[in-house]
Amino acid sequence: MKVIKIKDDLQQVITTYKKENKSIGFVPTMGALHEGHLQLIKEARKESDIVVLSIFVNPLQFGPNEDFEAYPRTLERDTELAELTGVDLVFAPSAKEIYEGPPAYTVKVTERVNVLCGKSRQGHFDGVATVLTKLFNLVRPDRAYFGMKDAQQVAVIDGLVKEFFFPIHLIPVDTVREEDGLAKSSRNVYLTDIERKQAPSLFKSLQKAKELIEAGERNRETIVEKVKNIIQDETDGVIDYVEILTYPDLKEIDVLHGKVIIAIAVKFTKARLIDNITIDII
Ligand code: AMP
Repeated sequence: MKVIKIKDDLQQVITTYKKENKSIGFVPTMGALHEGHLQLIKEARKESDIVVLSIFVNPLQFGPNEDFEAYPRTLERDTELAELTGVDLVFAPSAKEIYEGPPAYTVKVTERVNVLCGKSRQGHFDGVATVLTKLFNLVRPDRAYFGMKDAQQVAVIDGLVKEFFFPIHLIPVDTVREEDGLAKSSRNVYLTDIERKQAPSLFKSLQKAKELIEAGERNRETIVEKVKNIIQDETDGVIDYVEILTYPDLKEIDVLHGKVIIAIAVKFTKARLIDNITIDII
């Protein structure tokens, strides 16, 4: 497995792969790898000649009061896990390598961002879209893998790929969960013991919503109320949002039909957890 930190070196290697007609599967991450990330790598491994993993804590997608400095950085362990999971090339650039100075050119996203996490994380998806534009141009993947844990991110990247005609096939991967249902996340370590015990109620509330829909409930408000009640009754977390929207357009919907997302964000003492499910209503 190659570990590359310099973009010119990366481009040289990618050019060689392209000349050899090798297909490239790309998994962009911020590191601190867990089984969620490894699942994306495994999916890429199944379908690609070459699997490229990027590890880059992107300063542009963190707000001023977010955890950029504190974000876990575990490069040595990450590269070991990457190698064990079948990655061919890790690209782990410094911030300087990607942004020479304050960025003069950025991607501005105006669709699919004024709801869910985009509402409270102003500019976050501009940062995501900008770094991915850079990384896509460096790595030139045939396929790029993203977790449905961050379903709004998948929706935004779907728009980005279409808008800028990137010849990349976007592959969404199902959320990997702990045995008790909690979605795996690098931020779960910030939960206190009590909060960790309460956290599975987030997924439980989503399962309840699914049950209601399967039993024929179509009223958005009724379902949102049920979900909120479970979270409020079973956790000390503060609900940031519980929303039901169309997916992937993320438009408001009152009477559910078609593909919808039920998405929640809950603030605990030191961690803000998100989770979601998507459902196809026929
Ligand atoms: P991050 O390092 O947090 O930017 O995540 C990198 C990629 O891993 C993103 O596409 C995430 O959606 C994905 N990911 C994070 N957690 C999970 C999970 N529990 N299951 C599936 N994918 C995940």
